[in-house]
Amino acid sequence: MDFSPSPRAAELTEAVRAFVEDEIAPVEDHLHTRAGEARRHGGGADLWRVPDEVRELQRKARAQGLWNLFLPAGHEGPYAERFGTRGGAGLTNVDYAPIAEATGWSFLAPYVFNCNAPDTGNAELLLRYGSPEQRERWLDPLLDGRIRSAFAMTEPAVASSDATNMQLTAVVEGDEVVLDGRKWWTTGIGHPDCAVLVVMGLSAPDAPRHQRHSMVLVPLDTPGVKVERMLDTMGFLDEPFGHGEVSFTDVRVPATHVIAGPGRAFELAQGRLGPGRVHHAMRMIGLAERALHLACERGLSRRAFGKPLVDLGGNRERIAEARIAIDSARLLILHAAWKLDRYGPTGALSEVSAIKVAAPNVAQQVVDFAMQIHGGAGLSGDFPLAGAWTAARAVRLADGPDEVHKGVVARVELGKHGAAR
Ligand SMILES: Cc1cc2nc3c(=O)[nH]c(=O)nc-3n(C[C@H](O)[C@H](O)[C@H](O)COP(=O)(O)OP(=O)(O)OC[C@H]3O[C@@H](n4cnc5c(N)ncnc54)[C@H](O)[C@@H]3O)c2cc1C
Repeated sequence: MDFSPSPRAAELTEAVRAFVEDEIAPVEDHLHTRAGEARRHGGGADLWRVPDEVRELQRKARAQGLWNLFLPAGHEGPYAERFGTRGGAGLTNVDYAPIAEATGWSFLAPYVFNCNAPDTGNAELLLRYGSPEQRERWLDPLLDGRIRSAFAMTEPAVASSDATNMQLTAVVEGDEVVLDGRKWWTTGIGHPDCAVLVVMGLSAPDAPRHQRHSMVLVPLDTPGVKVERMLDTMGFLDEPFGHGEVSFTDVRVPATHVIAGPGRAFELAQGRLGPGRVHHAMRMIGLAERALHLACERGLSRRAFGKPLVDLGGNRERIAEARIAIDSARLLILHAAWKLDRYGPTGALSEVSAIKVAAPNVAQQVVDFAMQIHGGAGLSGDFPLAGAWTAARAVRLADGPDEVHKGVVARVELGKHGAAR
């Protein structure tokens, strides 16, 4: 087993780290303060605008070749030829993992490098399963950063941990697909450039359980699509992306908008989510590293009862435990990435589910400690910790709750002992 990145990936990781530190961090600090102010004063339309400074950062990152690096190995060929730096660098999951970690240090970085969810997952979906027309219309502008996308699976009316529950209908009628129903927690729908949704809908209620649903590309401006409201996540709006509740009323799109044909949503979801979970998990490691860094700095620089905070109570032990937890989780993720590279999503099922549980839990614990050692400041808007805690907490639900992923790990484990599903 070799988890070392290729020389090219190591070089790119260093370039991304430097860009995050030198270019993104100063802009982010300034935007963080501005967004906090805007929220305190009622928000307004300005919250949902992409600041010029961020678009400028994207231009700079792209000019340095730090663009679409998530695009998997094997797909850089024709895309690199056609798009130049738009085509990614042909990195494996092991190669990309440390880059994802570096972007996890900043809330803004994944977007600046065109490597943010849910666009990355949607791009991979189109890359692997999209028709040439679908790729030309949606994938090209996504990779070019001209549009954003959203992924609409979860529904308010049903327990969406079980994806076979989805009730929104997506019925093929002649040369059209007609969608009716309601989704929520649709991330990215608030972004001013969001142009298309990948919607999971019920097409064949009588088919076998995992062949009933389809994934359909729905342009946001299709009549009948309505963003009913934006949801907050523990008080954060996650602007300019946001999470929305969206209704679909007699929404009609051409049948050619179904990805890979009706009834294939589950098969597609499997392919979409493997690498995406490595990205998420490694970003969580970056987040935890940043929190530990802040905790150490604060604990060394502030004194109480005649000592630096790090020397009080069990704080040294907590720092050690954080380091052990972060490094263990990182190795677990690299192992999952390595298995994904070798055996594909079905050969790394248990490992990918394991990291989906481990990484956000470690991040949440480390951020929680960092908040505690910051005292009241840790919960204030003056530090990024409250946002970081919320992000880690959210990842324990987004893309499936911990319990569902533990269920996969247990199933694979028991399968080794001959237990049936
Ligand atoms: C910030 C954020 C962003 C999100 N972004 C998106 C997005 O872009 N697109 C999208 O479609 N969805 C998104 N989601 C939704 C997310 O994927 C769902 O919330 C999640 O899958 C759980 O579905 P549910 O909310 O319906 O919970 P339910 O299905 O009602 O489950 C509730 C609880 O029941 C328990 N439970 C469920 N199944 C099991 C089990 N097998 N064993 C034990 N306990 C179980 C768990 O404790 C679970 O948390 C997002 C959520 C958040 C918080």
